[in-house]
Amino acid sequence: MTNEPANSAVPAAPTLLTATTAPTQDAYRGRMYINGAWTESQDGTRFERHSPAHGHVVSTFPEATGADVEAAIKAADAAFRQGPWPKLKGVERARILLAVADGIKARVDKMSLLESLETGKPLSQARGEVSGCIDLWQYAAGLARTTSGDAYDSLGDDMLGIVLRQPIGVVGLITPWNFPLWILSQKLPFALAAGCTCIVKPSELTSSTTVMLMEVLEEAGVPAGVVNVVTGKGPTVGQPLAEHPAIDMLSFTGSTRVGSMLGGLATKNLKKIALELGGKNPQIVFPDCDWDAMVDAVVFGVYFNAGECCNSGSRVLVHESIAERFAQAVVERARQVPVGDPLHPDCKVGAIVSENQLSEILGNISKGVDAGARLRLGGKRYDAKGLYLEPTIISDVTPNMGIARDEIFGPVLVIIPFSDTQQAIDIANDTAYGLSAAVWSSDINTCLTVARGVDAGTVWVNTFLDGYPELPFGGFKSSGVGRELGKQAVEDYTETKTIQLHIGERKNWWLPRPVA
Ligand code: NDP
Repeated sequence: MTNEPANSAVPAAPTLLTATTAPTQDAYRGRMYINGAWTESQDGTRFERHSPAHGHVVSTFPEATGADVEAAIKAADAAFRQGPWPKLKGVERARILLAVADGIKARVDKMSLLESLETGKPLSQARGEVSGCIDLWQYAAGLARTTSGDAYDSLGDDMLGIVLRQPIGVVGLITPWNFPLWILSQKLPFALAAGCTCIVKPSELTSSTTVMLMEVLEEAGVPAGVVNVVTGKGPTVGQPLAEHPAIDMLSFTGSTRVGSMLGGLATKNLKKIALELGGKNPQIVFPDCDWDAMVDAVVFGVYFNAGECCNSGSRVLVHESIAERFAQAVVERARQVPVGDPLHPDCKVGAIVSENQLSEILGNISKGVDAGARLRLGGKRYDAKGLYLEPTIISDVTPNMGIARDEIFGPVLVIIPFSDTQQAIDIANDTAYGLSAAVWSSDINTCLTVARGVDAGTVWVNTFLDGYPELPFGGFKSSGVGRELGKQAVEDYTETKTIQLHIGERKNWWLPRPVA
């Protein structure tokens, strides 16, 4: 792109916004919800979650023991075997799911504030996420009434085939910290719509909205034992959900490392698995695109949720003829992104979720620069209280560098030039991941060629990060197994059962029938 020495003259990152008022509310004191009762852990231990932006204690939760997890699994198992949940009419389950949607609506303010304080994301984005969950619960309610099996009247005069869809059973749900209520709402209402019972393990960093959701479920009339929440650490609380024989299915969202480890454990005891894992999602930019729309979507795509997003558009493949113009344009736009206190009304990029995550991101940036890539913006932690990282842009990246291939999960954009469409597709596919991708061009042939050629569960054409409950979501390759959302979302939580009904007199195998 240029012959300038690496990392020369990096322009200033945006100035950090500070909120005028500090958060003042008392820490939220969450409890576990097991068999319809609010409980502490059996050994009475609790843990705290501190705000990554402000440092104060936002919430505290019981730290579950193995015995607590066992109690939750037992409750879900009994609720499934004894009912009534799996046997309720679809319309009755739908009414309860709609009541949950109303309960979330009534708590948008409280849930959004806790989500923002625990994750570090801007309050306005937390509000968008929590409000969006209402639609997921409503959509699942519709599917509770319309999901059905199949019938075959095509098997001959003497046979009718019926395919039932029955709930798979007890489902373990493990969720991450980046979109805590949203990701849970991509799973739980669909499992419930199918008639399953569940044990939920939220990330220990962001358990509040999951626990608050249990208050909503209780009010909405979900029977005891149907949904149980256990809070605490992955190995103690999450791992048994992959290993326990009473659990029929594991649905996990999080890192590819933990997901593949848990998927291995779960399939060893023949559970069904659904895994939504990482991504290194390419946005592929051609010279004939709508320039302003593309620049805006690139900046949005990588800095939304501070890049802590499995769908983050963290890799831009740009045609070599416009690579330098592109790099300058995104740097200029990124310098205007409002970064800072998540409670500031203008904030678009808040704090990084944890000290660990921040140092992982910084480590990745250093590795990229050491490998010869060019730092164009950011690259440092802000000199301020709170876990803030400068929006970062790195150009002159080659496809074999670690930063071109590994998920960074932070506000870091890498720019890779390409020379023609086939090369762009080849580079796009040259990672272990395949979650999502985008193509920017005004030529429909280019758009369709790229959309068909990239390994990705979702391809956006001249847009980025839009999502609808109607559209399936999930990844190719190491980005996961299975799909969430879409009209099949409930089916994923079912088993089919084939019933074959013989009609009329059945012929003997080989003996002639006795003459009457
Ligand atoms: P993890 O995969 O470690 O965590 C996701 C969930 O799994 C959490 O509930 C976590 O619990 C749980 N977990 C962790 N270890 C185990 C275990 N041994 N057995 C059972 N459950 C476990 O992700 P992190 O939160 O550590 O984030 C690390 C990286 O993962 C990120 O940098 C990013 O690359 C990726 N990630 C991807 C996400 C996505 O949407 N695809 C979401 C979040 C992260 P606990 O909180 O207690 O550790």
